Amino acid sequence: MARYTDAVCKKCRREGIKLFLKGERCNSNKCAIDRRSYAPGQHGKSRAKLSEYGLQLRAKQRAKNYYRVSETQFRKYYDEAFRREGITSDVLFEQLELRLDNVAYRMGVGTSRAEARQLVGYGMLEVNGRKVNIPSFICKVGDVIKVRDSKKDNKTVVAVLEANKLKAIPSWLEFDKKNLTAKVLRKPVREDVDLEVQENLIVELYSKN
Ligand code: SF4
Repeated sequence: MARYTDAVCKKCRREGIKLFLKGERCNSNKCAIDRRSYAPGQHGKSRAKLSEYGLQLRAKQRAKNYYRVSETQFRKYYDEAFRREGITSDVLFEQLELRLDNVAYRMGVGTSRAEARQLVGYGMLEVNGRKVNIPSFICKVGDVIKVRDSKKDNKTVVAVLEANKLKAIPSWLEFDKKNLTAKVLRKPVREDVDLEVQENLIVELYSKN
């Protein structure tokens, strides 16, 4: 997978909203979008009116960057959502929310999705009693996700959990702070996702090609 090596704050500035990609910095006065609330680049301050395609592309980029997934992965989730029963955009967000790295982030195991992904990759979590280190693993209703007992004292895990101790847990997830265990209570729906995006534009974009 191609790695994005430019400053991630540019993604927020391009979209004009906070995507919370840098952990604690996002809630501090160092947030780039608070300091420079215009798009990056030479013509960033003079935003041209976007075409229909431009609006659709921006909506897709916004959602893709929010979850920090590649174009290939995002497209795969869309295709799967299109195949499945239900409203395509709802199923798309359901899959993205149920990724193990996102569940970890929602639990507070990671101050950003990128950090949560790294911690999943390092094998900090288990699902239903079995170690899972695949960030794209899709959780199901009823799954129990837990910080592995052998990792509970890991310095990074302790620090991120402390940093996130006041974080709101979404209602589709039940989190036991004492045992560092979360249970998926139901499928997440679009209303559970705190992202400002017109999901119909994403569907319109992909339905063309
Ligand atoms: Fe976005 Fe966070 Fe950077 Fe602010 S600090 S621009 S929210 S990534």
